[in-house]
Amino acid sequence: MVKTAALVLAGGRGIRAGSAMPKQYREIAGTPLLREALRVFVNHPAIDMVGVVIHPDDEARYENAATGMRLLPPVFGGETRQESSFNGLRALSDFAPDNVLIHDGARPFVAPDTISRVVNALSNDSAVLAAVPVTDTIKREKSDGTVGATVDRSGLWRAQTPQGFNYEIIMLAHERFRSQSLTDDAAVAEAAGHVVRLVEGNEDNFKVTAPEDFKRAERQISASRGGPLGETRVGSGFDVHRFQPGESVILCGVEIPHDQGLAGHSDADVGMHALTDAILGAICESDIGTYFPPSDPRWLNASSEIFLAKAAELVAQRGGSILHLDVTLICEYPKIGPYRDRMRSRLSEILALDMGRVSIKATTTERLGFTGRGEGIAGQATATILLR
Ligand code: MG
Repeated sequence: MVKTAALVLAGGRGIRAGSAMPKQYREIAGTPLLREALRVFVNHPAIDMVGVVIHPDDEARYENAATGMRLLPPVFGGETRQESSFNGLRALSDFAPDNVLIHDGARPFVAPDTISRVVNALSNDSAVLAAVPVTDTIKREKSDGTVGATVDRSGLWRAQTPQGFNYEIIMLAHERFRSQSLTDDAAVAEAAGHVVRLVEGNEDNFKVTAPEDFKRAERQISASRGGPLGETRVGSGFDVHRFQPGESVILCGVEIPHDQGLAGHSDADVGMHALTDAILGAICESDIGTYFPPSDPRWLNASSEIFLAKAAELVAQRGGSILHLDVTLICEYPKIGPYRDRMRSRLSEILALDMGRVSIKATTTERLGFTGRGEGIAGQATATILLR
């Protein structure tokens, strides 16, 4: 088994980010930036251990940022990035890794796929660099502030991290080139004459450097629907309505001909009621009866769409979004299967949600209990919601 370590460099002072607090400890969406970077490595299945290089003044900040994470003991950095990297590498020797990925603590948006590409490339190459191809046209400036030349951008890449290496090779290269000032670990490997393989990084994986970068970081978090930075909530709902004389029932917004109807103050849509409660449950907003009491004549024979739309509105007000809905209808009759997709389509219309996020299932209770005896229909639902 190949043992792979990650080394996260967080020893810088971050003066450029214009804050008293080093930038890697500043919070984005309530979490220290460094924690976001560490989390991706700690959770990655191909990474066996994660070490961090910190500044001696930042021990308390680091303890706060790394609370509860499985990490090697932190190592103090040096005067330069290169020295910090060397200190971190040297401390890893106790754990004898085969490969090491070195990453900037100020790049919280490294994608797990980027890490995988670097790790995979290390099975053939001893030095690997995550990078993105340059797509902008590049100009070289003259000393008077005008364009001197347009640079051919073909073959140009912007280096990112992680940069992955065979541990022995990068350790030896660092020892050999300690006295030279090199910009990154790949440059150290290059100086030692090693071939560095380029693999695709991810465009979002930028280094938080200037104060305006924090705004971009916040925006990226808001945009990352279902990403690692939101809070996922699951709510459940349950409802029952009894049969009464009638000619049809309404389930999840679809009218189904039947030899009975359902009794209820509203349209008795047991599926939509369960679903509304599931959504309200996920955001701790009480239940459907709180917003739409059966005692209120306004809701007599009301379409349950109003209830569902209200629950969705409350989610939106919290800055949340609905990721997935799953409804189970429990009855012997009517048969649900032929109406399933119309129900999914109706719910996705009301909620402006992709149909691929709406599931409808049906089951009987083997003729047992009140649903089995055909006395009524039960509905249960779960709603998965992302809060930011
Ligand atoms: Mg109900």
